Amino acid sequence: MTNAIFSGLATTIFEEMSGLARATGAINLGQGFPDDPGPEAIRAKAADAVLNGYNQYPPMAGLPELRQAVAAHYARAQGLDLDWQTEVTITSGATEALAASFLGLIEEGDEVVVFQPFYDAYLPLIRRAGGIPKLVNLKPPHWRFDRAMLEAAFTERTRLVVLNDPMNPTGVVLPDEDLALLAEFCVAHDAVAVCDEVWEQVVFGNARHRPLIAFPGMRERTVKIGSAGKMFGLTGWKVGYLCAAPALTHALARTHQFLTFTTPPNLQAAVAWGLENAGDWFADMPRALAASRDRLTEGLRREGFAVLPSQGTYFLCVDLPGSGIAEGDRDFCLRAVKAAGVAAIPVSAFYEAAPVTTIARLCFSKADATLDEGVRRLARARELSLARPDFPSP
Ligand code: PMP
Ligand code: GLN
Repeated sequence: MTNAIFSGLATTIFEEMSGLARATGAINLGQGFPDDPGPEAIRAKAADAVLNGYNQYPPMAGLPELRQAVAAHYARAQGLDLDWQTEVTITSGATEALAASFLGLIEEGDEVVVFQPFYDAYLPLIRRAGGIPKLVNLKPPHWRFDRAMLEAAFTERTRLVVLNDPMNPTGVVLPDEDLALLAEFCVAHDAVAVCDEVWEQVVFGNARHRPLIAFPGMRERTVKIGSAGKMFGLTGWKVGYLCAAPALTHALARTHQFLTFTTPPNLQAAVAWGLENAGDWFADMPRALAASRDRLTEGLRREGFAVLPSQGTYFLCVDLPGSGIAEGDRDFCLRAVKAAGVAAIPVSAFYEAAPVTTIARLCFSKADATLDEGVRRLARARELSLARPDFPSP
């Protein structure tokens, strides 16, 4: 016997494309991870903690030093007043924080408002928790929602809304007016917001990330989720944070204790040190990534691609029809990885219904030479696509 909710699912698009990239030796601009090793000082702290630190079970809610560092970081960076003892829980990545939120807060039959495109873990976990997803369909090029879309999605059975801001895969950082609108709906429907803010520090130029928990009426009804993996460019570390008012934290901690119970103490110690000693990291890291985004954007535009703006995350989106490419995103991405040696992610993979099939996502957290070679190979993929026998003549 297997569980249909999970066994019916395909392998995640990230694993599928990274697997193809490994098998073909392609450049991987699909799955989101930097190709540098990450900040050496933090890695040295982790190594020291493995060799000389404590390697037995840490407290269930996380090392006190990390919970304090998380609260202090959010006070400095976002003006929040989190009590580390009653409002911060350390998890094994944002993924576990999401699972704890859905399993801890959803009752059978509760409706959960989710924006498409969504991060791929949301829907299976929401369904497994007994929730009924109510999808709000966002579209390029701006990917924004409005009052009418929220009115169509929220009902008297709405229990949760899941917000990913800054948003993967679109690279959108929501403006205050959109956040205020969503907060208004959460308050009016007595709903809890699960805010996946793993990209909160990866925001470029004039864009500003504002946490939904800081909006009127949201302090007691928001679960704020962060990830050290994204903050420090160490995506394999899987150290996440759950921040919420005490009553919510109590429910989340009960779930967390039976999911993973704890997270490796040595990595927790290193992340705590990193948050306390970040120096200019949170200004320099996005600046370097913005330069990579610009390099990839300019290279792609020179080759005839239409690139959508990216205000945050490791990702930018390419508009395929705007680039002269008439095939669907999945077909184009398969062609790119198999025939041109470069992996990308088809954005339709982040939809369940009425998918947008015209957008490919590219990861730019890579060395300049990798990006330049990626552009050359994407240009080749575009040529191959244009040369398809069934391509309509101009
Ligand atoms: N949410 C979003 C929007 C993500 O992009 C990711 C990973 N890229 C995660 C959650 C998972 O984070 P973690 O690796 O900390 O589990
Ligand atoms: N979050 C990463 C991305 O969007 C991938 C995470 C994963 O592979 N599950 O590329």
